[in-house]
Amino acid sequence: MIFPVSKISLQRLSDELFDQKQVCLSVLRLDTLHRVVSGNKLYKLHYFLQNALQQSLNGMVTFGGAYSNHLVAMAFACKEAGLKSIGIVRGERPPLLSHTLHACIDYGMTLKFISRQEYSEKEQPGFLKEIKAEYENYLVVPEGGYDPAGSAGAAMIIDLINEDCSHICCAVGTATTLAGLLQGIKKEQQIIGIPVLKNMHDIPQRIKFLTNHLFNPQQLKIINDYHFGGYAKKTPALVDWMNLLYQKHQLPTDFVYTGKMMFGIIDRIKKDLFQKGSKIVCIHTGGLQGNLSLPPGTLVF
Ligand SMILES: *Cc1c(COP(=O)(O)O)cnc(C)c1O
Repeated sequence: MIFPVSKISLQRLSDELFDQKQVCLSVLRLDTLHRVVSGNKLYKLHYFLQNALQQSLNGMVTFGGAYSNHLVAMAFACKEAGLKSIGIVRGERPPLLSHTLHACIDYGMTLKFISRQEYSEKEQPGFLKEIKAEYENYLVVPEGGYDPAGSAGAAMIIDLINEDCSHICCAVGTATTLAGLLQGIKKEQQIIGIPVLKNMHDIPQRIKFLTNHLFNPQQLKIINDYHFGGYAKKTPALVDWMNLLYQKHQLPTDFVYTGKMMFGIIDRIKKDLFQKGSKIVCIHTGGLQGNLSLPPGTLVF
């Protein structure tokens, strides 16, 4: 890993609730890797970077929306590795670019805007062929790093948990991180995935594609109750709760992924859905830059 993993720590949260329920809760702070580019995205890119460097390619090309954590991570990682980066962005170029896209440009990424219609066809062989022809000597990285190489990189996150634990929890977007974690856990451990999209029912098929392994269903629990209306949707209750979490534990979260995941896990502790003695580790996958899309003053951090 070419990033400063020494900055990552396991933060133990103390709370009467956890004492009362006799559980421990710690948070693996991947968000501290970098101010803008944080968390699981850099891990997912690890093997893509390695491949591009080994093959002496010019750079990498990938896809994302205007607020994509993946795009900005790619831009940053490529800059650090001395590679060029191309970001293919969903939708026509708006008059004002998002802070995320500005950050991408600052890291040297070339942006190319395509219509939503075209974007929706980006996984089709014809489209990929065109991209490969247009960007010769570039590695094409799927949106969100959704690829076995992405999962293999995410599997390295397990090594950062230097404490015994019974449960490892993460937010789920493409399930690439989840699949990686699942590859690395011990027999007696369980992964809890909190999808941030509504009705995400194809996770086993995704894991099969990402790892080519069958997993033990007892080692994975998917909880579909905490998407708060769907991807990047939020409620005032979620925002208030994130502010409270910060005030209590100095733990900043983002409203798209980690806020929902932490809410879900602590809600399940309240509802006695963890056995006494459980040692829970939540993966803070970062994404804090996404909060800049909220009106100023929404969050206290
Ligand atoms: C992308 C992202 C996720 C989801 O990761 P997947 O591997 O796509 O499931 C979780 N948290 C944050 C902060 C992210 O940016």
